[in-house]
Amino acid sequence: MSPKQQIKGDGEAATERRKREPVAQDLDNPTQQLAPPVAVNQRARLAPSSLTSREVSQLQRTIGNREVGILLAGTVQRLEAGELQMQSEFVVQREDDDPLDESQVRKAIGFYANRSTQYTEEIIRQIQAGVGVPETGTVDEAMVQAVARYQQANSPLWVDGMAGPRTLPALFPSGLAEQEEIETYAEEAEDILEGDWASMSEEERADDLIARVNDRLAAANVPQVGRLIEDLGGDAGQFDFEEWSISLDQGILQSEALSDAEAADVADTVYHEARHAEQWYRMAQMRAGQGRTADQIAHEMSIPPRIANEAFGDPLAPGSMEALIADGWYQSVYGTGSAHRERVLGPTGTYEEYRALPEESDAWRVGGDVTEAYNRLGEEGA
Ligand SMILES: [Zn+2]
Repeated sequence: MSPKQQIKGDGEAATERRKREPVAQDLDNPTQQLAPPVAVNQRARLAPSSLTSREVSQLQRTIGNREVGILLAGTVQRLEAGELQMQSEFVVQREDDDPLDESQVRKAIGFYANRSTQYTEEIIRQIQAGVGVPETGTVDEAMVQAVARYQQANSPLWVDGMAGPRTLPALFPSGLAEQEEIETYAEEAEDILEGDWASMSEEERADDLIARVNDRLAAANVPQVGRLIEDLGGDAGQFDFEEWSISLDQGILQSEALSDAEAADVADTVYHEARHAEQWYRMAQMRAGQGRTADQIAHEMSIPPRIANEAFGDPLAPGSMEALIADGWYQSVYGTGSAHRERVLGPTGTYEEYRALPEESDAWRVGGDVTEAYNRLGEEGA
């Protein structure tokens, strides 16, 4: 059983997301957390073989045995074995503009190596082009550092050099994630929310908001969504993939006058839920590209047969970036990540875990871009 609805939280949650800082994924790397004595450390780096056992003892007194043990890792064992050679990699310091240290670089390179059937030479070239390093088709330190710099500049992505299911859709925006689509929807939503809103019924408000987002879905070749008005008990909107419809909160639709912040949040929410519709359709197209029949897709994803049929007729090319991105969402919802996802969406899941789910990380980023575009319109009009 997988939760069928994609929920976006209320205004309180929207505030919380802005306060949240990126989460470092690699907490097991000591060189980031320690500040060893500079002189010995620097000399060790410049002339590693010159580090004596006495200097190791000095390090131990200064920063504590346990930390030295972590810092020097295998080196201490080798010293104990009577070998004074030291590999510089254990004490190498980070360059100012390199986000990853040696161990993180190795881990990131390993990430791609372990997934070489998906991260083909062609995919690697595209990632290299995306982060602005030479397109060699071979993963190297320059590439993973550049991916990490991209992640650093695009909070709250984890800064780990691994272009996985959260980073790829940000790096290669398509469909509703394209800036032009975002700006178009923000403008059209503003016309509704700050135009005739007061003179419209709640049904008209819902119809117009969903009609405009359906225009954007049509432009992205995604089937239209239906719309429902419900009491969502504090949630602003939901995409229901079994019904292929977006529910909007009755309380919000009944509001006679929305503040600028509330209006931006409505636009953000509708777009966030529509992005989920696009994600689910891309997953279905990706499965079609892998040879699944329409019946199989409808059954395994619990989506309406007519949606599965459309996806079957327009499959994503296996090996394409689009298919890799869709697979990231698919694994999260239906594949290797599904047990984790079910727990996160249940009573023991945390808000941070929910926001880190690949499909939510993506929808929150795209929805957030609508809020930004919406707020710019207000500034321009003022
Ligand atoms: Zn969502």
